Amino acid sequence: MSFQFVETSSLKIDGYARVAPQEQMERIRSLGLSLDGARVVHLNSTAVGGGVAEILKSMVPLMDDSGPDASWMVLEGAPEFFEITKRLHNLLQGAEGSLSKKEYETYVGYNERLAKSIKDRGVEADVWVLHDPQTLPLASFLPEGSKIIWVCHIDTTLPNQRVIKQLAPLMQKADRVVFSLPQYVVDGLDTSRVRIIPPAIDPLTTKNKEPKLKTVRDTLSRIGLDPDRPMMSQVARFDRWKDPWGVIDAYRMVKESVPDVQLALLGVIEAIDDPEAYGVLDTVVEYAKGDSDIHLFSDVNIVGEPEVSAVQKGAEVIIQKSLREGFGLSVAEAMWKGTPVIGGNCGGIRIQIEHGRTGFLVDTVEECATAMLQILKDPKQAKVMGKLGREHVRQKFLMTRILGDYLSVCSELLAPSSLPDMGLAYAEAAGE
Ligand code: UDP
Repeated sequence: MSFQFVETSSLKIDGYARVAPQEQMERIRSLGLSLDGARVVHLNSTAVGGGVAEILKSMVPLMDDSGPDASWMVLEGAPEFFEITKRLHNLLQGAEGSLSKKEYETYVGYNERLAKSIKDRGVEADVWVLHDPQTLPLASFLPEGSKIIWVCHIDTTLPNQRVIKQLAPLMQKADRVVFSLPQYVVDGLDTSRVRIIPPAIDPLTTKNKEPKLKTVRDTLSRIGLDPDRPMMSQVARFDRWKDPWGVIDAYRMVKESVPDVQLALLGVIEAIDDPEAYGVLDTVVEYAKGDSDIHLFSDVNIVGEPEVSAVQKGAEVIIQKSLREGFGLSVAEAMWKGTPVIGGNCGGIRIQIEHGRTGFLVDTVEECATAMLQILKDPKQAKVMGKLGREHVRQKFLMTRILGDYLSVCSELLAPSSLPDMGLAYAEAAGE
């Protein structure tokens, strides 16, 4: 297995001072200084599609600008490897089953070859930041002397315990293991090495910058949505844990009393590490059949950042009806745009939405439909909710907070004596 470097656009941390809380900017400056020149390499399995790529395309250049010498690599796996790692992903989120000995050996074997290819090409780092299960076994094969952070972006609240037993020894090889929430910390780890860092969004990307109203309307029209009719949307990969069928069920209940409502499901398929997406999409197409007000989007040539932005800004309601959700960047993205969000009452969605204040948390299709109706029928309350949601994201879920958290972990590994702050900002983010 090989890898390649990902080119990122150059970003300047100073540009964030106008949107981010001042204390986050100061924290980055002092931590960045303590890490000046340290080589930090992030490694994951895809440069496009999904939340991890979304975070890295901003965090890596911003980390680079703040002090360390930061770069980003993606592994180049074969379909056989991604089939196994997608299974691992599902098992970590609680699916039934297990990984056979042969599959486990294949998974580890690919990473062993990846380590060799890294060595052969002379890539070195002071800190390796390995993201998600695809890269976990690499922690056993990288050269001694460099520090290793393994980051689990998955909702492991109720994982399959058999797979945890298989993976915990691999996790123990890392100097630090990062989860998005305290309840995700799996059994069998040395907790002194565990850190909690929830994800965050970049407020200055095309997707998240405040769009003009006219641009929003034009964009919606261009992709076949009617800007003059109420619209609800879920922006999420076609994945069984995101429950697109449940969203359609709730929409159908709402449609009985709001007949002109439209539903847009945006799930562009481009992440090569998600081989199940086409199968899920097929079932959703079938499920939505016969209703021309349900719009499904999976083509990257039709939906890119401007379209996601327009939908998240222009929708009356954004839904993220996940059954498991490591974090759910789409939630923060929509809240940042002042749009009310209804989220599944699970995982990382719970630390973003305060039920009834900054959005709604729902456990069932019926609850989802009730919340949809409440938002559609009371635009005044929806506006207040949107405003509170935006401020919540500003304080806790912007790129500047997560960058500070990662710099803090790197700093405790490389420059423990000059560590200015031991506590991660997550503690505040989680309201603890
Ligand atoms: N996304 C997108 N286009 C789509 C669907 C999703 O750009 O059609 C983006 C979405 O805006 C978000 C990311 O993909 O930034 C999904 O991240 P999230 O944490 O919500 O879920 P994940 O895919 O990591 O499970």
